[in-house]
Amino acid sequence: MSVLALLPQAILRIDLAAVTANVRTIKAHTAGELMAVVKADGFGHGQVDVARAAVAGGATRLGVTSIDEARPLRAAGLTQPILSWLNPPDADFTAAARLDIELGVPGLDHLHAIASTAPGTRVHLQLDTGMGRDGAEPAHWDQLCHAARQAEHQGRIRVAGIMGHLPCADRPGHPANARGRDRFAWGLRVARAAGLRPADHHLAATAATLTDPLAHHTMSRVGAGLVGIDESGTVRLRPALTLTAPLVTIRSVPAGTAVGYGHTWTARRATRLGLIPLGYADGLPRLASGRAEVWVGGARCPVAGRISMDMTVVDLGPGTAASVGDPVTVFGPGDDGEPTTAQWAAWAETLEHEIVTGLSARLHRRSTP
Ligand SMILES: *Cc1c(COP(=O)(O)O)cnc(C)c1O
Repeated sequence: MSVLALLPQAILRIDLAAVTANVRTIKAHTAGELMAVVKADGFGHGQVDVARAAVAGGATRLGVTSIDEARPLRAAGLTQPILSWLNPPDADFTAAARLDIELGVPGLDHLHAIASTAPGTRVHLQLDTGMGRDGAEPAHWDQLCHAARQAEHQGRIRVAGIMGHLPCADRPGHPANARGRDRFAWGLRVARAAGLRPADHHLAATAATLTDPLAHHTMSRVGAGLVGIDESGTVRLRPALTLTAPLVTIRSVPAGTAVGYGHTWTARRATRLGLIPLGYADGLPRLASGRAEVWVGGARCPVAGRISMDMTVVDLGPGTAASVGDPVTVFGPGDDGEPTTAQWAAWAETLEHEIVTGLSARLHRRSTP
């Protein structure tokens, strides 16, 4: 706290040791390999830092959406296999091959484009196991497997893996889980019948890795869990973010004072109001206005009025001991009673993923190893 008190601006602290610890915790739940999914700037925690911390904890692979998301990992010198699974069929697959990136293949367009522009690429065929979103539809799977086998036979690609993704894994026992697992097992049989021998078959993300051993296969693709988010609510993972900001001003106001745009909040009693230099442009969800709390001097204080673009008013209470410059904790791991990103997500009627990936580039970031 004393160090933070000296910092004149809002700081987002990132506890990379927490990431490493989370990977160890998750690894204890599966015998399979662990792919650290570091999309969206490592869920807003810093892609390269999170990748390194995850590797330190035992992750042996890295996963991203686009080829562009893979570039900084190679530029940083990370040598683990990287899988990129979300590209249009006219993406720069030649560049991907140069960077030694494995590619997800959801259909024939991608297969043919990769086979012709990036020969030798290792691909993972994607089967839709219930998302209705990405991956080949079951009706097209057999054809995709046979075309991939033919391209492999011609030495143009190598089918390294088969992948699926579950839509309801955060609800253990949901019937879509068994359906998805069955469809994936079927997809694997079809692939083998077509002559493919994928060494990797992977279906589970964080939730299924923690709750559904039947979904484990040879590898898990873990994103949210790296940064302490367990949607299944079954395992204690460690949040890695702490956001603090100094009190810029403090004012004493009489009862009846209205605050902020739209005057949605009015002081019921004389009180002291603090101003912090963080708003929705920094990633604080405006929808949390009227519900959110922050942590000041060892106590929860409510946000007063609407969260603005750049600033937020906090009701410090009439007897506050806080002074200008004191640090306000917006969220942290929750150890001392400060709000967590999970609570901010509840206040904003969303999920933690959206809170952590929505924190803006304007925030000063400090990673601790
Ligand atoms: C984001 C993503 C993951 C990681 O999911 P988490 O629930 O965050 O662990 C895994 N696989 C695919 C295809 C994804 O898009």
